[in-house]
Amino acid sequence: MSVRSTNRRETGIDAIRHESHDPGLYVHVPFCRVRCTYCDFHVASLSPPVTRKYTQVLIQEIESIARKGFQPRTIFIGGGTPSALDHQSWSDLLQALGSHFGEGLSEWTVETNPESIDEKKLEVALQIGVDRISTGAQTFDEKGLSLLGRQHDASRVIEVHQMMQRLGVPRTSLDLIVGWPGQDHQSVMADLAAVEQIDPDHISLYHLSYEKGTWLDKMRSRGDIDPLQDEQCIDLARQFLSGLTDQGYQRYEVSNLHKRGGASLHNLNYWQRGTYLGIGSGAASFHEGKRWKNLANVTSYIESEGSPRRVDEENPDRITAAVETIMLQLRLVSGLDLAEMRTSTGFSLDQICESSLRRFEQRGLLLHEEDRIRITDLGFEILDSIILSLVEDLEGSSDEKRFDSSNGSVDGTAHPSSSGLDRG
Ligand code: SF4
Repeated sequence: MSVRSTNRRETGIDAIRHESHDPGLYVHVPFCRVRCTYCDFHVASLSPPVTRKYTQVLIQEIESIARKGFQPRTIFIGGGTPSALDHQSWSDLLQALGSHFGEGLSEWTVETNPESIDEKKLEVALQIGVDRISTGAQTFDEKGLSLLGRQHDASRVIEVHQMMQRLGVPRTSLDLIVGWPGQDHQSVMADLAAVEQIDPDHISLYHLSYEKGTWLDKMRSRGDIDPLQDEQCIDLARQFLSGLTDQGYQRYEVSNLHKRGGASLHNLNYWQRGTYLGIGSGAASFHEGKRWKNLANVTSYIESEGSPRRVDEENPDRITAAVETIMLQLRLVSGLDLAEMRTSTGFSLDQICESSLRRFEQRGLLLHEEDRIRITDLGFEILDSIILSLVEDLEGSSDEKRFDSSNGSVDGTAHPSSSGLDRG
């Protein structure tokens, strides 16, 4: 049950771009001991009897998709906090995945939190075939950790990474947050120094957002915290990116960098609009031309015995497919493939968005190469507004004039490879 080492050690973005990684399998473990102050994900309280039952139902769902002949190329177990599972549930879940899907994988990631991962869980994971561990650090600044409601201190993140090195975890990833109230250049320098010390293969660098209903948003409304201004956040993000580049990291997506070929194949598949199945409460799927979510309710999920209720089911039509392609592929440094978009959706984005593209190019926000659009570092700072503008052009365009009916892809099954199945 070992993970096959296909091309995952290739370092070039072009090599990554041309390899298909679908279908992926996302496994959602929605339990957290305490909710972080910025978090609005689907999470539930950690309660051992519930997590054990939940794990058993996950295994039923795994068996069900395996019986239907599903074979993923990548697995990502995310949450929530997968490492918060007790040892028995952790082992049962990994064994079930390994025995059904282990042979055909090119990557298998598990998300962990520093306070709940331990040597025994790591040993089991490695033995079964997990080859990538992603850890939520967020910052190494104790003030920041406390504000964000994290359940660990900075030294625990370093300790966990030393443990992973000792045990020979093939690839590691670290999540960091930029823009929390009180963060300054000195704090970023300290984070960069800690990253240099532990030297992970991959960094996810997310901007803090104040999602409605989160503790952080409530604190902001009450005036208990003083959020950074946008310019300050951009300034700190630049400092992070420059420091990480100096350490040998290469940006391959707006929020993600890698070194030593450590790009996340599973997430690349999402951004390339590849197919995937999501299992567990609230997990999303894109498979055989359809998108849907499992109902986000742990009790209903447990009662479902592995056949969860689907919600928000849709068949993306070709304009939806085109919008999704813009929103996903422009996140990648390798950019959007205009020819592929024409073939899969019928839209010629370079014609439809001609004047916007020219305007953005003149401002140094993107590069329009022969059959590809790439966002520059400057453009990534305002990616949302670039995407919005291109989507408005697309939606405002006349289908009759722009659609090339000769390509035959008119059935709403926009993705060329839907034969088989997020966030990390
Ligand atoms: S550990 Fe992750 S999923 Fe859990 S509360 Fe914190 S941010 Fe949310």
